[in-house]
Amino acid sequence: MAVFGDPDASEFEALIERSCTICGGEAVAYWVGSGTIKVCERCALEVLPKLCADVTLRGKRLGLSRDRARVDEALDRMRIAFLEAAVTNLSRPRTSEWTGPISRST
Ligand SMILES: [Zn+2]
Repeated sequence: MAVFGDPDASEFEALIERSCTICGGEAVAYWVGSGTIKVCERCALEVLPKLCADVTLRGKRLGLSRDRARVDEALDRMRIAFLEAAVTNLSRPRTSEWTGPISRST
């Protein structure tokens, strides 16, 4: 994943339209796979986790205990992936200003 404005950003970044793939708002980060997924902060923190929950619980119900185990396992995997990305991000020098996630007002 890359953050728009990151000093290490490639020239590719300048070619990317900065609209969130999900809501159309201003994207702040992107992921390049077979296509480019761009997300705003709200969709990254509030919408993508909902998609992950739907993916985790897709298919038929297995019963409360086993479905809960699926959720717990998914959260563990997501926590590891999140922390790995955070450590990678923190290990890079940052010259641009970034104020962190916007606090929710609710
Ligand atoms: Zn969005």
